[in-house]
This record gives sequence, structure tokens and C-alpha cells, in this order.
Amino acid sequence: MTLSPSLLNSRIELSHLPVTWLQPPLRNQISDDAQFYYRCEKCHSESRVPLLLVGEKKFLKETCSNCRAKGKWKPVTHALKVTTRCLDCDLQRSAVHVIHDLWRCDRCYSARFEVLSEETDPPYPERFFEFDSPFVLLANLGAK
Ligand SMILES: [Zn+2]
Ligand SMILES: [Zn+2]
Repeated sequence: MTLSPSLLNSRIELSHLPVTWLQPPLRNQISDDAQFYYRCEKCHSESRVPLLLVGEKKFLKETCSNCRAKGKWKPVTHALKVTTRCLDCDLQRSAVHVIHDLWRCDRCYSARFEVLSEETDPPYPERFFEFDSPFVLLANLGAK
């Protein structure tokens, strides 16, 4: 099949990640740009997790850069949803794209697809915030 630019991009980004991130539970939290986002439950802004701290739960106690609420984080996954059509039997299918997924038709097992549409769900916010720099955070974690 021919990969569309955003699908190809997502695949390349994801292929740079450590293998352990591509297994559950982290795998289910990777957005299609290979980043991790958390939403503040108080002000609903999103912050990007420094990659050094991915898998490290203690950063969840950190303060929101937007509203200064403490420790109100929920992960958000901006996943690429792709709708494909099988070129051999015409079956249409929508699925969330994750690296290493097999691209086989459910009905005829063909690997020949056309991409009909794709969208990031939920869409990215217009702006997102950053946690403090990883080095500040690591120093704080060490002090606690
Ligand atoms: Zn907030
Ligand atoms: Zn098919």
C-alpha cells in the first residue's frame, strides 16, 4: 500500500522511540507525533511530558504551568485514525494507527490498501504547555 505523508511521518517518529515505550501501557498513550500529552483537569489545558520523564509517575504531582493547580493530570492520546479500502475485495475499515500493526484485510487478508481518510482524534489543541525543564524536575524529584 502507499502510505500518506502523515501516516509515513507518524511511522518514522514512532520508530525512533525506545522499544519499551511501544508496549502497553505506554504504547496506548503515545500520540501520533510520538509525544506524550497530559491534560490538566482543572483548566483543561494540555502539557507535553518531557521525554526523559516518560514512564516516571512522580511528575504527575507537578504544577500546571497555566493555572498552577497541583497534580490534576490525565493522559490524552492524539491518535491517528485511518480509514482504508481493500483494493482486492473493497472492504472499508477504520482503525487507530499504531506502529507494527499488521495491515491486512479482515476479510480477504490482502495487504493492498488505499487510504481514504485520516484524522487525529482528538485534534491537537491550538497551544499546549510544557512542564518545567526535565533537569529542574529531576532535581526536584531527587529532593523529595
Ligand atoms: Zn491547569
Ligand atoms: Zn480484502
